[in-house]
Amino acid sequence: MTTEPRSDTDTDTDARRAVETVAGSGAVIRSGSAPRAETGPGPGTEPGAAQVPADDAAALAKVSAELETQSATAAIGWAVERYGRALGLACSFQDCVVVDLAVQVDPGIEVLFLDTGSHFPETLAYVEEVRARYDLNLTVVTPGLEADPWPCGTERCCELRKVAPLHRALQGRRAWLTGLKRVDAPTRAAAPIVSWDDARGMVKVNPMATWTDDDTDRYAADHGLPVHPLLAKGYRSIGCAPTTRPVAPGEDPRAGRWSGTGKLECGLHS
Ligand code: SF4
Repeated sequence: MTTEPRSDTDTDTDARRAVETVAGSGAVIRSGSAPRAETGPGPGTEPGAAQVPADDAAALAKVSAELETQSATAAIGWAVERYGRALGLACSFQDCVVVDLAVQVDPGIEVLFLDTGSHFPETLAYVEEVRARYDLNLTVVTPGLEADPWPCGTERCCELRKVAPLHRALQGRRAWLTGLKRVDAPTRAAAPIVSWDDARGMVKVNPMATWTDDDTDRYAADHGLPVHPLLAKGYRSIGCAPTTRPVAPGEDPRAGRWSGTGKLECGLHS
């Protein structure tokens, strides 16, 4: 894997911020640039415009196979051209590589962060650092009140603090982008670049699916990206604080997530 070329992206000095509340889904904080002109897809591609996917599975599989040997920005470019503003990027902010790649293609792309209420303070500070660096069009999605009775580690916590809020945040879109990598977990080993996401009724694009952890680290170093402060303290896979621990040198980076529970996925990608 070669590193992605970094193009210059000028900061939009028209940056503006607003705070909204979306009924039933908790507070949604929007910040970043003013909306940019639509790119690419043209009429009929507004959120919710298409109910029946012209993107049938075979066509998506063909696109995915073609993108398999291309750069991550090529996959992002395909998605931006096809779906325009009906596309959202979900980012966990363990690092900001996928954000860096995406804003090269579309500086105004909407980035979604799921604030479960259990993140490390360092993660929240990192989100703000990345938001400021890129003047991100960032939406922070919080759970609704229905999550209150379900604290960390209980059966429905991930569902109500991650899966359902993301589902709501993506409603009306035609596609979403992720930073998922095949090496993240055995359950992701065969993740395609592009596929139909049955659970959400839209296309899912994993532009970094073929990347390794070394690719990610190298890209971040080569491009001088901000680094999550907990990486220096032995955390290699960072999620909610109560279910994340640092790992020992040589230990599987994912061993620090839901350690000892056998759990591999929170439901966002399964
Ligand atoms: S990782 Fe833990 S705190 Fe975070 S949503 Fe899942 S169960 Fe809740």
